[in-house]
Amino acid sequence: MKIFGIGRNYIEHTKELHNPVPEEPVIFLKPQSALLKKGMPFSIPKFSSQIEYEVEIVLKICRNGKNIPQKHAHKYFREIGVGIDFTARDLQQKQKEKGLPWEIAKAFDHSSPVSEFIPIQKLNDKENISFHLLKNGQKVQEGSTGNMVFGFDKLVSYISLFFTLNIGDLIFTGTPKGVGKIAPNDTLEAFIENEKMLTCEVL
Ligand code: ZN
Repeated sequence: MKIFGIGRNYIEHTKELHNPVPEEPVIFLKPQSALLKKGMPFSIPKFSSQIEYEVEIVLKICRNGKNIPQKHAHKYFREIGVGIDFTARDLQQKQKEKGLPWEIAKAFDHSSPVSEFIPIQKLNDKENISFHLLKNGQKVQEGSTGNMVFGFDKLVSYISLFFTLNIGDLIFTGTPKGVGKIAPNDTLEAFIENEKMLTCEVL
C-alpha cells in the first residue's frame, strides 16, 4: 500500500508556514514503514529537534483506479479516519531552502499514526467534516473539510493521473492551522466530530 500526503491544503496553515497557496494539489509519498498503529507511542527520532504534529483527515481507497474523472472519484473511497502527519520541521525547512525533496522530514519510520476508519455515510455533514487535535488536553488544531483548498474528489482524481490507486492506499488530506512542536510525555488525541479516534503518547 501507498500513503499520499497533501501539502498546503488549508489556506490558514499555508500562510502560517509562509508558503504560497498552490494552484494544483501538492503531493508527497510516504512508505508503508511510516505507519504507526493506533494506540502505539511515538518516539521522537534523534535526527530532529523540532518534530511537529499535523492532524489530518485520512481517506482510505476502496477500489483500484487510474485516471479517475473527478465526477466518479467519490466511488473510490467510503471510509475516513484521522491521522497525524508528524513532520521534522527543522529538516523540512533545510530541504525547502535547498530545493530538495522532503522525504527525510515527512516519510520517516512511524511518522504517521492513523486511527480506525469509519464510513463517511455515518457522518451528518459529509461536506463539512470537523476534526480537531488535543495536546495534553488543550485544543491545538481544529478544521473542517469544507475549508480544504482541494476537496476529496479533486485529490483522488488528481493523484490518479500520476499514480494508480489501489485498495488500502491512504491519503492524508492536509492540515489546518495550529501545527506545533511535540516534546516527550505529550499526549495527542485526535477527534472526528466529537468522537475520539486516536490517542498517541510521545516518548
Ligand atoms: Zn501534512
